[in-house]
Amino acid sequence: MKTSGTKKAPPRVASRRILADDACPRCGTTMVERRSALKVPVNGEDVSVPSAVHLRCPKCGEVVLRFGDGKRLQEDAIAVYRKKHGLLSADEIRGIRERFGLTQSELAHLLHLGANTISRWESGRNVQTEAMDVLLRLMRDLPGSLDYLRRHAA
Ligand SMILES: [Zn+2]
Repeated sequence: MKTSGTKKAPPRVASRRILADDACPRCGTTMVERRSALKVPVNGEDVSVPSAVHLRCPKCGEVVLRFGDGKRLQEDAIAVYRKKHGLLSADEIRGIRERFGLTQSELAHLLHLGANTISRWESGRNVQTEAMDVLLRLMRDLPGSLDYLRRHAA
């Protein structure tokens, strides 16, 4: 069978070079593990995380995060951000919720939030807004506010 001109060419691979796990994606040099401060954006603001584990290229300076390091860095960045802005920590949020015997989804419902939001706050994957921080403090400090929220829950 003759191959016609309509046959689609296979997609072109930009680089055929297979990199080792610890090779710099930019220049191929073996990267080394470092522990130093890195800047991470949280809510559009750069926060500096001290002693963040990462791979750095000794030749070109490229920084690469392994999956676990990236996850950890994001959690640390959120903790730094919370401290800087005087927001409740992940543990403090969990403490308030547990004090009232609420599940994560029950608290989310009371605050009119998506079902997974509280879990993201408590695991440090996401940060609460300042308005939500105030509501959580009201729950903690103002007797009767939980009942109020319950009456106004959807
Ligand atoms: Zn490099």
